[in-house]
Amino acid sequence: MNAPQSSVVILGGGPGGYEAALVAAHLGARVTVVDRDGVGGAAVLTDCVPSKTLISTADFMSQFETASDLGVHLEDHEGDEVSDSVAELTAVNRRILALAAAQSRDIGARLAADGVQVLAGTGRLLEAGSVEATLADGTTQTLSADVVLVATGATPRVVPFAQPDGERILTWQQIYSLAELPEHLVVVGSGVTGAELAQAYLGLGSRVTLVSSRDRVLPGEDADAATVIEDVFRKRGMDVLGRSRMASVSRTESGVVVRLVDGREVEGSHALLAVGSVPQTSGIGLEDVGVAVSESGHIVVDKVSRTSVRGVYAAGDCTGVLPLASVAAMQGRIAMAHSLGDAVAPLNLRAVSANIFTDPEIATVGFSQKDLDEGTVDATSVMLPLSTNPRAKMQGITDGFVKLFARKGGGTVVGGVVVAPRASELIYPVTLAVQHGLTVDQLAGTFTVYPSLSGSVAEAARQLHQRD
Ligand SMILES: Cc1cc2nc3c(=O)[nH]c(=O)nc-3n(C[C@H](O)[C@H](O)[C@H](O)COP(=O)(O)OP(=O)(O)OC[C@H]3O[C@@H](n4cnc5c(N)ncnc54)[C@H](O)[C@@H]3O)c2cc1C
Repeated sequence: MNAPQSSVVILGGGPGGYEAALVAAHLGARVTVVDRDGVGGAAVLTDCVPSKTLISTADFMSQFETASDLGVHLEDHEGDEVSDSVAELTAVNRRILALAAAQSRDIGARLAADGVQVLAGTGRLLEAGSVEATLADGTTQTLSADVVLVATGATPRVVPFAQPDGERILTWQQIYSLAELPEHLVVVGSGVTGAELAQAYLGLGSRVTLVSSRDRVLPGEDADAATVIEDVFRKRGMDVLGRSRMASVSRTESGVVVRLVDGREVEGSHALLAVGSVPQTSGIGLEDVGVAVSESGHIVVDKVSRTSVRGVYAAGDCTGVLPLASVAAMQGRIAMAHSLGDAVAPLNLRAVSANIFTDPEIATVGFSQKDLDEGTVDATSVMLPLSTNPRAKMQGITDGFVKLFARKGGGTVVGGVVVAPRASELIYPVTLAVQHGLTVDQLAGTFTVYPSLSGSVAEAARQLHQRD
């Protein structure tokens, strides 16, 4: 295909859409993004960026709590000991919303600089090469395209007996308008979003109850990592209710009540619903055009982001492949490279690194412990607690570990888990090893700084060599 003559229309300006737009523009295509809620998408405006900004404040505050372990105590001007830091939620939220808006503006400026046209409005497919955009003023435009990318994302799941009201019963997208810190927040759902936000509010000073329908928090994650996190939650005073399924959430005179299926009731000042998301794929013409959609409403795509209809691609949360901004962006880039005739490697989910921004963080890449246990991969593992690492001791880090998985025989690194403060940074050497098929000996033979937490990654690799 001759790229300069190609036209691309993208529905949705989140990471799936805007990253694709930049690649398509670089490949010489004429690109239009139709976006309903603001470029950057939910990732920047309501989900990923705001939650991580909130967590940064909570993390900062928890450092005050550990200060005394490191021999520091804080005094006010009169020399009296200060034991508590206090979060001013309006200031915290103001910062979060300003930061998200600035990030969205930066992305908008980058798109404009690269010649991408952005239309603020709602798009729908009319046919494979045609999109109708309904703009903010109610007018419509029909856009024809050689390639259409659908990247419309997902939205919080709402269940009939737990309707958010934006005041006391909240989705994760509504928490940034709170004027005061919830006195007692009941978080329903102990997946990644529930766990991250429960700990963030605990760190900010709320009393927090986490309602989890499963045996332990973070179901589906590495069991050793989830156990560390649940222990930390309890140690810091969070009330974790395991095997507790929510039946309904409603308002009381002064707050909320979460009723559980077994009849128990949990009262709080606010409830945060974190019970999953649903793809935004209805009413955008997919059925009319014949794009295959799964029972859950996700668009079916292959490893180069093609849908069942020629010329129509899809990326991000609307495909349900892996709900991560990084994966959405990669799917979008791959779609454009494939459709515009550039070199392309299919999506490799085995090398996706992911992080849960609890304190400590949990970062993972590649095969999991479950894959090893079930025999999906013939590999061996080693787990090193961080408590023996000298840098961890210096920094007062007591919880966490490094786990590495290597194929039996050759010793190729096939996965790993890091539970540590800033595990999101520490997982990178393991990701490099997984992506490029490095062996434990290559990892162990690479210098690390002394003292450093990454020393534990090299040490784990060294121990795997001894075992082989
Ligand atoms: C609380 C939370 C925290 C998260 N934290 C992280 C994290 O730390 N790291 C990470 O990698 N991922 C994180 N994620 C996941 C990440 O936010 C998503 O994977 C990412 O947003 C997916 O990007 P997307 O482009 O598919 O969709 P979105 O970011 O949802 O963007 C979709 C865009 O499409 C627009 N749109 C929808 N319908 C239409 C239409 N018909 N016409 C025009 N425009 C339309 C929307 O307005 C929106 O702007 C988090 C998610 C949540 C809920």
